[in-house]
Amino acid sequence: MSPFDSDTAKTAGAKGGGWNRGLRSDLLDRLSDKFTIGDGCWEWTAGINNRGYGMVQTDGRTEPAHRVIYQLLGGIIPPGMHVDHLCRNRSCVRPSHLEPVTVSENQSRGMLGRDDEGRFC
Ligand SMILES: [Zn+2]
Repeated sequence: MSPFDSDTAKTAGAKGGGWNRGLRSDLLDRLSDKFTIGDGCWEWTAGINNRGYGMVQTDGRTEPAHRVIYQLLGGIIPPGMHVDHLCRNRSCVRPSHLEPVTVSENQSRGMLGRDDEGRFC
């Protein structure tokens, strides 16, 4: 295999998705086989941490997969904001299921989500 072969493959892939943005499309190529795209949630199938979030290695750092995918597909996360799952599925990386929220808003939503854990059992 020559280096030209892999260049050709990358160019073809980027054309199909319309995500031809250099390193970012390379990263997206690398991640595109790590989640399943369906009618509902896009389930992350690679590494999941002990809290149920998909995790991904980029530039030697480990980051939450939903944040990485959200930004790769054009989403903007303002500084200091968290990305909340509207679908409550922590392994989901579908951008339309994600929304940037302030940290305090995310925590108050998290409290509501914890009601069914039986604190008063
Ligand atoms: Zn979802």
